[in-house]
Amino acid sequence: MTREVRGVAAAPGVALAAVKWLAAAPVTSPDDTPGSDVDVEIARAEAAFETVAGRYAAQASEATGPAADILFMTSALAADPALLDQVRVGIRAGGPTAHSVTEAVAHFAEQLAALGGMMAERASDLRDVGQRVVAELLGVDPPGIPESATPFVLAAQDLAPADTVTLDPARVVGLLTVAGGPTSHTAILAKALGIPAVVACPGAVEIAEGTEVVLDGTSGTVEIAPDAKRREEVLALRARQADAPSGPGRTADGHAVPLLANVGSVADARLAVELGAEGVGLFRTEFLFLGRNSAPSIEDQTQQYAEIFAALGDRPITVRTLDAGSDKPLPFLNLPDEENPALGVRGLRLRNVHEGTLLDQLTAIRLAQQSTGATVKVMAPMVATVEEARYFAAKAREAGLDTRGIMVEIPAAAIRSAYLGAEVDFFSIGTNDLSQYLFGADRMSSSLAALHDPWQPALAATIAAVVHGATANGVKVGVCGESASHPEFACVLVGLGVETLSMAPRSLAGVRAALAGVTLAQCRAAADAVLTAGTAEEAARAARTALGRAS
Ligand code: PEP
Ligand code: MG
Repeated sequence: MTREVRGVAAAPGVALAAVKWLAAAPVTSPDDTPGSDVDVEIARAEAAFETVAGRYAAQASEATGPAADILFMTSALAADPALLDQVRVGIRAGGPTAHSVTEAVAHFAEQLAALGGMMAERASDLRDVGQRVVAELLGVDPPGIPESATPFVLAAQDLAPADTVTLDPARVVGLLTVAGGPTSHTAILAKALGIPAVVACPGAVEIAEGTEVVLDGTSGTVEIAPDAKRREEVLALRARQADAPSGPGRTADGHAVPLLANVGSVADARLAVELGAEGVGLFRTEFLFLGRNSAPSIEDQTQQYAEIFAALGDRPITVRTLDAGSDKPLPFLNLPDEENPALGVRGLRLRNVHEGTLLDQLTAIRLAQQSTGATVKVMAPMVATVEEARYFAAKAREAGLDTRGIMVEIPAAAIRSAYLGAEVDFFSIGTNDLSQYLFGADRMSSSLAALHDPWQPALAATIAAVVHGATANGVKVGVCGESASHPEFACVLVGLGVETLSMAPRSLAGVRAALAGVTLAQCRAAADAVLTAGTAEEAARAARTALGRAS
């Protein structure tokens, strides 16, 4: 039998190709010879940081969606004056210039890593900044994607934003990382590019450069050096996928499941249409607010929303109001530092300190709806209580928006869904945050990635409770977290009574094909199998059997 290593499934699909490891970062040493003129060396360091920050910013302006946001934030890290100050201190103390950069970056990265959560995620971005500045100073190529005439699976300890955004999906056909979690940058960008990814896979270090693997981003397995029979199976599977169904989402027996897209920009909206999305189930509006010193005006927002609405033609769109705070910090809000930002002032809670920002946004959404005639729904993130749901529904109605919903991503809202459902028209379950709060496990932590496995039976049980509470009020339930993009788990969601699924546009085809291959009764049987399973592994196995798939 082929040897395999396991990680966490991060983006669906199967790749069959040789592994190539990300090129190593340049190494510096305290014994390198320091420059003779301190002022010249400081000027060299300043110029190198400026060049690197500029490159990130240029990449950000060419990228779209989450990639643009991530690069923009990394460009800000490279321009951080405190970091450069620390480098100057090192050079003035007689340190070699490039090594002073390595030391300053290590110092700040350690501090960030110690903070945990979203801050720890920034530490790997900061290390990437440091490596690129060092490469610039040493006049060598920055660490990056290896050259290859044939497609390959890119393997790395972890991938920084600058590595992943320049990926050409025709050349890099899969991603494999030793670290990272299912909601890490690697996962988000792999989904955006439509290539499979497995993360948090410590066993990957055993795979030598050039070894062929079967990387399954749906199950999280990596088979090392598959034999001829296995290769043929994979090639046959890929040929079947190429014949995948198109059109609206439905099960084999005709149960309709509208397949919607998660978007964050006009480019995403266009891609969603191209890939057959029946609408947008989650429009993340943060992109408009990122990297600004003040909130965008109502006019500015109206124009940008209208552009996205127009790109969708007559397809409906669900706009989520600003979800700032925690993993999406916005400088202009001037929020005080919090000990534990994921449990702090974020999402709809911002209304307590910045109500005007929310009300202006609702006004802009309404104006854009009027000017385009689009079918628009609005929903609020991070709602926990009936008061919050009631407040949002009232403010949206005052703004003239009639279809109002909430994201269910806090266990309190899930438990009380029958009561919250009396206040709104629909629920959209955000399984990324719901898992985080349900399991008390930071969504950014790679060591806790197993708790974010959608097959954890507690997640399905919570979703079942939400559907139950919603049904009492005739409230529609959709899922827009990453779990909806998992082809087999998507069938389970349908079996649990979820009516719509929203995901990265490139995940639509896999989910559409999975649904087309099963009946509603099989989906229900798979949901029952998950609800009555003991562990995530047992749940996955039992559900696959119920769906008629070999496990
Ligand atoms: C979620 O939490 O599942 C979600 C869809 O929202 P975000 O990932 O933007 O927090
Ligand atoms: Mg969320």
